[in-house]
Amino acid sequence: MLDLIVRNARLRVSGPLIDIGVRDGLFVGVQPRLPAEASETIDAAGCFVTPPFVESHVHLDTTLTAGEPRWNESGTLFEGIECWSERKALLTEEDVVRRATKAIEWQVSHGILHIRSHVDICDPKLTALRALIEVRRVMAPFVDIQLVAFPQDGILGFEGGAVLLEEALRLGADAVGGIPHYELTREDGVESLKIIFALAEKYGKLIDVHCDEIDDEQSRFVEVMSALALRTGMRDRVTASHTTAMHSYNGAYASKLLRFCAKSGINFVANPLVNIHLQGRFDTYPKRRGLTRVKEMAAMGINVSLGHDDILDPWYPMGTGSMLDVAHMAVHVAQMTGREEMRSVFHMVTDAGARTLHVQDSYGIEAGKPADLVILDALDELDALRRQSVARVVLSKGKVVARTTPAETTVFLQGTSHPIDYLR
Ligand SMILES: [Zn+2]
Repeated sequence: MLDLIVRNARLRVSGPLIDIGVRDGLFVGVQPRLPAEASETIDAAGCFVTPPFVESHVHLDTTLTAGEPRWNESGTLFEGIECWSERKALLTEEDVVRRATKAIEWQVSHGILHIRSHVDICDPKLTALRALIEVRRVMAPFVDIQLVAFPQDGILGFEGGAVLLEEALRLGADAVGGIPHYELTREDGVESLKIIFALAEKYGKLIDVHCDEIDDEQSRFVEVMSALALRTGMRDRVTASHTTAMHSYNGAYASKLLRFCAKSGINFVANPLVNIHLQGRFDTYPKRRGLTRVKEMAAMGINVSLGHDDILDPWYPMGTGSMLDVAHMAVHVAQMTGREEMRSVFHMVTDAGARTLHVQDSYGIEAGKPADLVILDALDELDALRRQSVARVVLSKGKVVARTTPAETTVFLQGTSHPIDYLR
């Protein structure tokens, strides 16, 4: 007797529909017509079923603060940092818990069950970190949350930055963050990366650095990260986020750099919604897209995943937290519109994200793994991307944590009426 069976799931475009059994929060059988009884049955009715979405890069401490105390009118990263430093002075733990919890509810409703959030630790009280550690604890039975200690104002550029960073790791942050391109000098940027790697080794943590998030083609800290990842052996425990400057590197340098990156095994996270919005702001015309070289990296087999980055905060005045929204933008901005390319973008918000977060061993619809899945109102990955499909059912460790009923629209045209069908 099983706890639950999801019947008639479409795991891939062709092939038979699959039944998925669940017992004690784990998958126990994944096959056509599973011959078993269960206390509960969910009929997926031929809908596409995927492992949960992975949010590789978000800021749950800043979320839902857009317009507080003022709006970022210029739309630049730098005015965003100024707005945030004003809002940061007003933070309380209750305030962070309330906003983060609401954003997580949105994310779960869209089928996200793994979240990596950066947390600004340039605050002597570490208010946001303490609050998010509590949120991580409360949400642990449902959603896997990783916290990156993120020195928004710099490790060397902010007084006591290195001490706060280490304190954040002692308090329980899962990964070490950084912002080398925002340190006062190139040399400080390199030094900050050495501090980050040393702390990660000392405390056995992952690394995820906001790296080269600027249109300046002279910003070249990815090369330092990949060299350190190779020399320390930390390799795929290291992630370079944003790397938007790579968009502007000359071809010869980018080609050499990508070979080094592939050799080092580091992960990349692009944030298409926020990159296309914040970058290119100092250009007249033509305006650069400011997205890192997602297409080229994917073609080389480098692990690239995607993040929403900001949801209604000083850096992005929009967003509902959906990874399909992020992937939809990626398809356009990276011009990954080939059929296999679109499929690979879908993988950037699922499997590739699991690799970035280092949770790949407990991720996927296979017997013995945690029973996490999403029934999408879609036929396959491409359909989900095109229609921004809702998550009909989200299952976390075998329990339903969100349900959405797809909208139904009726058209009244030419003297008749019928429910509309968006499938071809
Ligand atoms: Zn970020």
